[in-house]
Amino acid sequence: MYQYWKKKSQEEINNTIFKALKANINYEEQVIIGLPASFLDEKVFNQDASFLKEAPFISTLAQNPNHIGCHTLGKSEPFFAGTQKIEQELIEICAVDILKGEAQQQDGYVASGGTEANIQAIWVYRNYFKNKFKASLNEICILCSADSHYSMNKAGNLLCIDVENVGVSKEGRSISTASIELAVNQAKKKGKKYFIVVCNMMTTMFGSVDDVDLYVDVLGASGCEFMIHVDGAYGGFYYPFSEKNNKLTFQNKNISSFTLDAHKMAQAPYGTGIFIIRKGLIQHTNTQEASYVEGEDFTLIGSRSGANAVAVWMILSKNGPFGWQEKIFILQKRASWMCEQLDSLNIEFYRHPFSNIITIKKEFVTDEIATKFGLVPDNHHKPNWFKIVIMEHVTIEKLMLLLEDLKAN
Ligand SMILES: *Cc1c(COP(=O)(O)O)cnc(C)c1O
Repeated sequence: MYQYWKKKSQEEINNTIFKALKANINYEEQVIIGLPASFLDEKVFNQDASFLKEAPFISTLAQNPNHIGCHTLGKSEPFFAGTQKIEQELIEICAVDILKGEAQQQDGYVASGGTEANIQAIWVYRNYFKNKFKASLNEICILCSADSHYSMNKAGNLLCIDVENVGVSKEGRSISTASIELAVNQAKKKGKKYFIVVCNMMTTMFGSVDDVDLYVDVLGASGCEFMIHVDGAYGGFYYPFSEKNNKLTFQNKNISSFTLDAHKMAQAPYGTGIFIIRKGLIQHTNTQEASYVEGEDFTLIGSRSGANAVAVWMILSKNGPFGWQEKIFILQKRASWMCEQLDSLNIEFYRHPFSNIITIKKEFVTDEIATKFGLVPDNHHKPNWFKIVIMEHVTIEKLMLLLEDLKAN
């Protein structure tokens, strides 16, 4: 069932990572004098500390491998081959065992975050439309729901293409055939012929999930070209485990790429946005001028830490696929419990049934309560909603304190 993702003991994890570090260059032991790189400054970060022997992640940080470029295709810098292999394995776990792709049929890398991974996807498709159809920038647009993350607006701004928003229903936070048709027709009037669709696998504020088939049906009937990216920055390590009938996978031939952030639900260090795309597409963002980098550079970022890939690989290996299922199961249970309590108090909220975000209407939340519990508003100037995110540390005990205050309000 799981091809690459296996639960590993701490000993196996330590052995694997230390072996990978040995396969990287060692600036102390070898004569490597051509790189603007070294171990972390020894005066500050002791390389010999005894605790490092039991700490594969900190050891990787100290040895500071640079994972510049993309390591799932072509050549890569030989200096960091050991930890690059860990990154390849991590991409394969996510692409095949989480997103149901075929083995070895996807490319990907660990980006700085969801923002970069989304921009990377949109950059690939913008260039794909330019290269394949001679599309001009004003014929291309990004199509995404009004609840999408603001990184799509950054991408549109940077890549000089317009963003067309698809309206969502006020209570259900869902897109519809009619709202997509409206947005597509408006875009066509402005001369758009090529659509970069970003489909949400859990939105930041509501945890809502877009029905990808609606995009496929409307755009298919429109006669326009389109490519679909799934933004799972929030939901990528959650939704595939909470919804058995997940339609947002590589099994759907209309979907070409995914963003999934390990630094949100997977509790990894910041700098772990994962970008995965079907083979044959990332070539559209190769920068041939990156001639000093072995294998050139298909990514947006440039230099990046190999320790990030190691951290995510360790987290997934330690939990294992079934441990992950249990983790999500518990969060789902807590979220459902909270929703029952809110219902019994007649407090109105939105929750997607497979999500751990509960978004409460502002009428039921005072400023004091929002501040006391760190509830995040949809808009700091003019809030309409406040959200609770059920994370590992958000226990029923803590939720009960909020319920008491909501009740007294
Ligand atoms: C957080 C988030 C992003 C952006 O991710 P960063 O890692 O903060 O750059 C993009 N999309 C969604 C849905 C998110 O929740």
